[in-house]
Amino acid sequence: MPKQRGFTIWFTGLSGAGKTTLSNLVHHRLQEKGITNVEVLDGDIVRTHLSKGLGFTKEDRDTNIRRIGWVAQLLTKHNVPNIVAAISPYRNVRDEVRKMIEHAGGPGSFIEVFVNCPVEVCETRDVKGLYEKARKGEIKQFTGVNDPYEPPHNPEIRIDTDKCTAEEGAELILDYLKKHP
Ligand code: ADP
Repeated sequence: MPKQRGFTIWFTGLSGAGKTTLSNLVHHRLQEKGITNVEVLDGDIVRTHLSKGLGFTKEDRDTNIRRIGWVAQLLTKHNVPNIVAAISPYRNVRDEVRKMIEHAGGPGSFIEVFVNCPVEVCETRDVKGLYEKARKGEIKQFTGVNDPYEPPHNPEIRIDTDKCTAEEGAELILDYLKKHP
């Protein structure tokens, strides 16, 4: 049996930028290609289980990302391709996770995808109604409104979701995977 290599596709970006949409599309496309053992770790779901009880201070956000990163590196180590969709606003902790995953899965096993979209566009989409609440002051520490987001300096892939369709974005990732087997 040819061995499937483990890797982590890590989506980072503002709320509403398109992380969940892209992760679901990529998951689906990989399944169609016969890669059926992909695990998806979505930030919103993780916060109801693994990170239940954590808030949105820098410390809690970093803890959340370290926990997700820990699970992702276990999966990668055991050759289970995995996709993470989490705002992950702080560069340092993302880079920490990158090291952990590359240690577990080897060079190239961490694929950081910057899901870039201007906050004004995310706000227009307002998929979960959270921007409206943040603007009214009902949510404190909302990324992009009153909490920082540090974009990656050298992501493997950058997708400007205000300039392409979700399908085109997913295609960029599949192309990347094809070119980096
Ligand atoms: P996030 O997970 O980053 O919070 P979501 O995926 O939940 O964001 O929401 C993104 C919204 O933007 C969805 O309603 C999606 O249909 C829409 N959208 C429009 N263009 C794109 C694109 N190019 N890529 C991803 N999502 C897009």
